[in-house]
Amino acid sequence: MSRSAARDARKLIRPLHGDLKRLLQQLVRTNSVAIPPGGDETPSQLVLQRFFRDQGVGAHLYATEFIEKSGNPLVRKNRSYRGRKNLSTRLSGTGRGKSLLLNGHMDTVPAGKTPWSRSPWSGVYQGGRVHGLGSFDMKGGLVANAAVICALKKSGIRTGGDILFESVVDEEWGGSGGTIAARLREGGADACIIPEGTQLDIYRATRGGFVVDLSVDAGDPAAYFSTAEVVSPAIPCGRLLGWVEASAKQRAQVRPRGAYAAFSDPVPVQVLAVQANLLDPDIPLSVPSRATLRVYFQFLPEEDVDAVIQGIKDALQQFQANDPFFRKYPIQWTPLIGAPLLGHELPADHAWTRCMAESAAAVLQRKPVITAAPYPCDAGLMHRDFGIPTLLFGPCGAGAHNPDEYVVFDSVLRTAEVLLTAALAWANG
Ligand SMILES: [Zn+2]
Repeated sequence: MSRSAARDARKLIRPLHGDLKRLLQQLVRTNSVAIPPGGDETPSQLVLQRFFRDQGVGAHLYATEFIEKSGNPLVRKNRSYRGRKNLSTRLSGTGRGKSLLLNGHMDTVPAGKTPWSRSPWSGVYQGGRVHGLGSFDMKGGLVANAAVICALKKSGIRTGGDILFESVVDEEWGGSGGTIAARLREGGADACIIPEGTQLDIYRATRGGFVVDLSVDAGDPAAYFSTAEVVSPAIPCGRLLGWVEASAKQRAQVRPRGAYAAFSDPVPVQVLAVQANLLDPDIPLSVPSRATLRVYFQFLPEEDVDAVIQGIKDALQQFQANDPFFRKYPIQWTPLIGAPLLGHELPADHAWTRCMAESAAAVLQRKPVITAAPYPCDAGLMHRDFGIPTLLFGPCGAGAHNPDEYVVFDSVLRTAEVLLTAALAWANG
């Protein structure tokens, strides 16, 4: 990969800078929050479609609802796809090259209840950053993908293989429905890039994930202030937290073989929420009768996830059997999103990894870091279930799934340059 390829990519992206910044701001200002079972992505998809139209690119919006009746076993039953539209556009190649898929999700998580410094939908550009919900996860990445399409279209360059762009719904909360719809409608590709936030590192692997609510009902709320003995799950819940900690220590014994080998905590176990009554002025001083822990387990790409989860369940059963309180008031196991997400791993010496590494080196003028994602995403599905070699490479930023999220706009442009360089090398190679 020559420096001149990177220079050419920079030259093709440069005239788009202003339009790309405005697009990103507009996308952030357009609410596309998904809360299961639904999601409100379509207004943002329309913004993106309009942008493409102004750039002379035809892009199609299509309903994703058809997957509910597709019979595809990957489709989650607890979701609704009514009114939720994917957007796609394809630059057809000459047929003498490898195809590339540029995938990204338009949905964001909700803004949460922790206050933000400014509105989650401000889209303000300040200090080189675009601020707001979804800016980093992953509207910045979507804009970088869109830049590749517009630059290619404007230049009139016809690649060998097809370049397919898609902006999908229902990625957050592990839904995967948008990407499933896209594969059923658009078919596969020889490689895929997902520009989730990676701080301009290349992630060649992702983890699997599973969220489960552990709930306990005990006692009678009416008994508080009324009877001598009050039963509540709140204090026993502390012992259950102790079990989670023991479980985390047990998991920490797992030795990763591949991309996660250098991670200090390769298979984290986190408590996402602890609830037993609310600290809310509307709630009187009272003893809770229900306590819930929301626990998040992650898995290595090489692990047998079903077996690991069964092991965790068995250990929980044992803990319950040894605790008189939980014997009487059993722990309820309620998976939040259904079946676990699975991770994936692409070899470091795979042709697509090498292509991306060379492109990143040419644009960034340094050796890129090639590592693994500290999270699961659609990449696992893309790679495992649809057989498309998938990498993550995206902009710098912070605050994904938290207040004051932002993306560094320059890094969105760098992402676009790297992806364009890689697209030309891959699709013409
Ligand atoms: Zn994301």
